[in-house]
Amino acid sequence: MKKYDCVIVGAGPTGIYCAYEFMSKKPGLKVLLIDKGHDIFSRRCPIIEKKLDKCPVNMNGEIGCHPSCSMTTGFGGAGAFSDGKYNITNEYGGWLQDYIPGDEVLGLIKYVDQINLDHGASPEITDPETEAVKGIEKRAIAAGLKLLRGKVRHIGTEQNIEILKNIFKTMRSRVEYMFRAKIVDLIIDNGRATGIVLESGEKIYADNIVLGVGREGALWQQELLEALGVAFRNNQVDIGVRVETNNIVMEEINANLYEGKFKFNTSVGTTVRTFCSNPSGHVVIENQNGVVLCNGHAFRDIKLGTDNTNFALLVSHEFSEPFDNPNQFAYEVAKLANKLSGGSVIVQTYGDILKGRRSTEKRIRECFVTPTLKEAVPGDLGLVLPYNTMKSLIEMMQALNHVTPGIASDHTLFYGVEAKFYSARPEVGDDFETKAIKNLYVGGDGAGVTRGLAQAGANGVWIARKIIEKQNS
Ligand SMILES: Cc1cc2nc3c(=O)[nH]c(=O)nc-3n(C[C@H](O)[C@H](O)[C@H](O)COP(=O)(O)OP(=O)(O)OC[C@H]3O[C@@H](n4cnc5c(N)ncnc54)[C@H](O)[C@@H]3O)c2cc1C
Repeated sequence: MKKYDCVIVGAGPTGIYCAYEFMSKKPGLKVLLIDKGHDIFSRRCPIIEKKLDKCPVNMNGEIGCHPSCSMTTGFGGAGAFSDGKYNITNEYGGWLQDYIPGDEVLGLIKYVDQINLDHGASPEITDPETEAVKGIEKRAIAAGLKLLRGKVRHIGTEQNIEILKNIFKTMRSRVEYMFRAKIVDLIIDNGRATGIVLESGEKIYADNIVLGVGREGALWQQELLEALGVAFRNNQVDIGVRVETNNIVMEEINANLYEGKFKFNTSVGTTVRTFCSNPSGHVVIENQNGVVLCNGHAFRDIKLGTDNTNFALLVSHEFSEPFDNPNQFAYEVAKLANKLSGGSVIVQTYGDILKGRRSTEKRIRECFVTPTLKEAVPGDLGLVLPYNTMKSLIEMMQALNHVTPGIASDHTLFYGVEAKFYSARPEVGDDFETKAIKNLYVGGDGAGVTRGLAQAGANGVWIARKIIEKQNS
């Protein structure tokens, strides 16, 4: 019988830094880190390696790789191939402050940042306190936009992978790994979690179980835990598009902030925000549970860069009665875009959106912004996004045009659908142990607590510390 002090499910930042903290602070503990994806050296995407123009259909007839998508799963989690922007702030990136005092959250984020620095992260960091930034902020306020300031360490995709490889090697001899291993169930005994069940039927036992399953595993986690009596509170879902324009339009923001994070309250009562900006970046495909979504990344090496900047424009939606499943809503909207584009995502010029007409291949070809995501299919996002969402996006674009003139040009591209799933939040204490099941800890994006690399990592460290404290008491 396999038995551990702690089994961590999910090798994203939550799981990795949780394991790292166990290894550093309590080296004697027997810890297993388990993920349904591949280890960091074996994560390969056929779109990139075989130059496919869309995700292949797997042996089960689903869109995507088997056993799981290498872009979003495996050691490093959803962010392994990401732009690696570490936001050194507690102003955004999650809701950890709802559980942990704000200054402690910042301390944990800096702690995770230091682990990255120790494993090869670049020391450069943005400074949000310059006169140039103040000038941008002034124009933003005049247009009704709030600029969220925070220091950003832009690691870049290729350096991010190297850091993950280094951390993987550091932990290898002290933390046990298991990859291509999907967890399908938990073993509960008298209100206590005592083990996990793999898809293969194998059972593994542990004194403590940490679930850091990310957005990828959020729906599965919710269904499983609700059936076990864990109460959930629904979170918001953010739906919108990935915007792409020429670098020159974003030059001032890119140079002074790297990532301009703006928030805007619309006339229809929604909040829109810019998110995950990628100067000289690429728009990419993200496959979540068979649903194809947009995302973006940028390489740190400028030789690998493009002439375009992309960022997400997201509208927050909350639901109550009679429908209260925000994730399901976003999946249905995204699936519609997949259907209309033959299994891909839609690209449309902002001009065509305003004119209410479909973008065609010819119109995209004639556009001044050359799409970096070649597999996106020209189409009509007006047939996909709800009116309220689209109206919010257009209002935000008009406001942004005062800060970055040219962004609301007819030639700007919208890719859809991009969605951020924040998952319902399970009822937990400030140690992230579920109230209903003892010894079961949930954290990260999958628990609706974080929405970024830094806070997810911080959450993992905190959970490890709380388990160690419990063991020591
Ligand atoms: C393309 C992209 C770019 C991004 N860029 C940035 C960025 O620049 N900055 C930033 O702050 N954030 C970024 N993010 C968000 C960031 O990656 C996430 O916030 C972060 O990875 C969440 O960490 P996590 O550990 O909670 O979950 P994840 O990283 O999602 O990891 C969860 C892991 O759990 C595994 N898993 C799920 N279910 C099971 C199961 N049943 N059995 C076994 N394993 C399972 C998955 O395989 C996955 O590896 C980006 C995300 C994407 C997709």
